[in-house]
Parts: sequence; structure tokens; C-alpha cells
Amino acid sequence: MVVHTQRCQYCSSERVRNILVRKAGESDKVFVQCLDCESFVASYVISPLGYYHHGKGYESFLRGIHRSGEFMSGRNVQRLFEDRKEQDLEEFQEVLATLQRKRKED
Ligand SMILES: [Zn+2]
Repeated sequence: MVVHTQRCQYCSSERVRNILVRKAGESDKVFVQCLDCESFVASYVISPLGYYHHGKGYESFLRGIHRSGEFMSGRNVQRLFEDRKEQDLEEFQEVLATLQRKRKED
């Protein structure tokens, strides 16, 4: 696993904010802005079902699925949500541990 934290290319700050943009008929997009020099740092396009907002619960996940135009039975969606939550939580812990090791090496 390789991990990187987003860093401003102009002032090297790691203090950035993600601005989530939704437009009808388009994929959700994230703009990253530096909080220190306010520069535009990067943008990401989120793939359908690519976004999981932890702690927001099943209802929020369901709305995301509806926006993506995906049709699934309620049971399958519930399963998808539980799997995603578990998997992302686990992976997040792994990401943090990898980042910590990387910081010690630097
Ligand atoms: Zn900056």
C-alpha cells in the first residue's frame, strides 16, 4: 500500500479542504483548496457509488445510490452499505498505520 497526503503545490501546506460539487446528470466532483494560500490544489471526479460518507448512515448511502441511477433490491443495498462501511473502516486504519510508518522514515 502506498499512501500520500494531499499537499499544496505552492506553499507545501497540508491544510486543505475538500469542496464537494453536485450537478444534475454529472458525476460528483471534489475540488481541493489550500487553506493557507487559498490556491486551487486538485480536483477529483467521483465514480458512481464511489463515495462513502462515514457516520452519515444508511439513508445517505441510499441517496447516493439513487443519484448514481443504480437499481438494486433493498436487501442488496443494505448489504452493500454494511460491506462498504466495514471495508472502508478497516482500510482507513491501515492507511493511518502506513502513514505513521512513512512519517517515521522521513
Ligand atoms: Zn497553499
